[in-house]
Amino acid sequence: MFFRKTEEEPAKLSPELQELRAALAKANLPEAVAAVAKKELERLEKTDPSVAEYSIGLNYLEFLLGLPWNRSTDDNLDLGNAEIILERRHYGLRPVKERVLEFLAGRTLCSLQASRVLVVDDEEIARTNLEYILRKDGYQVATAASGLEALDRLKEQDFDLVLTDLKMEKMDGLQLLESVKQTAPATDIIMITGYATVATAVDALRKGAAHYLSKPINLDELRSSVREIIDKKRHFQLSQGPVLCFAGPPGTGKTSIGQAVAEALGRKFVRLSLAGLRDEAELRGHRRTYVGAMPGRIINELRRLEVNNPVFMLDEIDKIGQDFRGDPASVLLEILDPEQNRHFVDHYLDVPFDLSRVMFIATANIVETLPAPLLDRLEVIQFSGYTEHEKKEIAKKFLLPKQLRTHGLANLAVEVADDAVVKVIRDYTREAGLRQLERELATICRKLARLALQNKSAAGSLAVDELMVEKLLGPRKFTHEAAEGENRVGVATGLVWTEFGGEIIFVEATRMKGVRQLILTGSLGDVLRESAQTALSYVRSHARELGIDPDFFKESDIHIHIPSGAIPKEGPSAGVTIAMALISLLTGRPARRAAALSGEMTLNGRLLPVSGIREKLLAAQRAGVTTVILPQGNEVDVRSLGDEVKEGLEIIMAEEVGQIVDKVLLAEPQ
Ligand code: ADP
Repeated sequence: MFFRKTEEEPAKLSPELQELRAALAKANLPEAVAAVAKKELERLEKTDPSVAEYSIGLNYLEFLLGLPWNRSTDDNLDLGNAEIILERRHYGLRPVKERVLEFLAGRTLCSLQASRVLVVDDEEIARTNLEYILRKDGYQVATAASGLEALDRLKEQDFDLVLTDLKMEKMDGLQLLESVKQTAPATDIIMITGYATVATAVDALRKGAAHYLSKPINLDELRSSVREIIDKKRHFQLSQGPVLCFAGPPGTGKTSIGQAVAEALGRKFVRLSLAGLRDEAELRGHRRTYVGAMPGRIINELRRLEVNNPVFMLDEIDKIGQDFRGDPASVLLEILDPEQNRHFVDHYLDVPFDLSRVMFIATANIVETLPAPLLDRLEVIQFSGYTEHEKKEIAKKFLLPKQLRTHGLANLAVEVADDAVVKVIRDYTREAGLRQLERELATICRKLARLALQNKSAAGSLAVDELMVEKLLGPRKFTHEAAEGENRVGVATGLVWTEFGGEIIFVEATRMKGVRQLILTGSLGDVLRESAQTALSYVRSHARELGIDPDFFKESDIHIHIPSGAIPKEGPSAGVTIAMALISLLTGRPARRAAALSGEMTLNGRLLPVSGIREKLLAAQRAGVTTVILPQGNEVDVRSLGDEVKEGLEIIMAEEVGQIVDKVLLAEPQ
């Protein structure tokens, strides 16, 4: 409820309202927004400053005026520069860098393309003048002396813009406009009218002209109208492209590459994690009818950055969803779709804001689970885990120098031996990316800083070797589970692919007296449960060939368990590992712990190819596996990988379970 002042009261404007009024007059707001702001201001002028609505309205107007409606940074589209920045900041990642540069090259070419303008006028002098002016401004210009000639030209070539006189013999400007709208709807038209009556101008605009100019032509107006229309068009073309989505395990450089893209383009950078979002309103804002309503994060960030074209990283789009009020995918779709995001309405703002200049980059750990319409908008660039060698190089060249600087050690002679770095990687981290490694190196630097201060004499030189690592970081955190554990009956080693990269799992099977039940535990998803059923049926139906008593299931229950129950497990690729655990259990032959399997299995024991081979091999190396068994269908994937990923591994390709039993199980039953 607003309290209106009475008529008799003199209309004294408070200084803050005067300021707002002045700011509103100066701010070059889009028409619709200016109208809303003006109405709100008028409402405020009639509202008693002591009521809540007054301050709500005031905050709203200040927020509205503070938004970067027209402010953007100029893009630097120098591809050489982009390459230097990407290289300087990142080791390896060749395919990623290539894809990013190709993406930027597309944008560069698009914006360097000379725009084509067609000038149509039956007076030669007018044509020549316009042609001269527009050529000077860098446009490719063609001319036509009549509407019909113009249509012929348009058949031969695409034009971005047609500048046409209204009054011409045979076919006038309006008729030409109608034909162009039918034959080349993407071409914009500026109508030049000799007699700028409102009626003809309105008619032209109604029929689809982008603008009209009256004779005699004001050259500045002509140039700025042409520039504006062409800019809009270029910008529209650029925003039509897909949105980049960096997918891969945590700590593999996704954010860092995003930052480098922003730096290369000369744009500001902002990152918004979607993982913790609980409510659609966090993205889209609350309606102002709520007390304490606030704008959403997207609009808020743009206001903070003061530009409307930053590189905006939407982090972990695969984590939005559960526990999210509203429809997450549709909000994301709206934000990422150029057709929709030019009219993005934040509930608080309540007027459309054009997000199409923002360069969105999404990140995800796994894209397979994203809804299809969303995936459709994304150009996925896959990041994969690093090999030990890559981690060592990145640690030495980037992570350590950064941590030394952060901890004030850059000027001291700190020598970290290669062996020490490798020890940190092997014994203190177990990850596809570099996050834990970076944290451990930070811990080392923190402790070194303290040592340097405590022991002034040693401050000049600090050497870190393997022993020192253990002294600083304590006992090792990880063992090589596969290499160091014992071979056991009923326990097979498997390789799976999770959002954190490749992982090693141990499938356990046991049998007890019972009533033919298959018990499955370890947070297994439906597909994995079905894989277990399939594996059991295979073993039962092939018992004799496998040297197993065909009646083994008669009076027993079988229990299959995959430890680390807190991590949900899903997917078919553990099928063959489950089968191997069962065969080991029922034959009494221990399974080699250092032989790891991955593969989907059919009911008759054939192995079907699986995904994430690189990640799985890296996980195998990390865990000290020596033999990896994969389906024959994955041979192409294995062949395409570099030697470093296969180093230290014997990789066996197999077509069916029968071929691998002797490779995994020891000969003698226990
Ligand atoms: P993500 O966003 O994929 O989780 P980050 O970009 O945060 O990963 O990377 C984690 C850390 O590792 C950052 O300090 C980053 O600079 C560094 N980093 C990742 N990949 C590379 C690389 N190829 N070269 C140099 N540093 C890297």
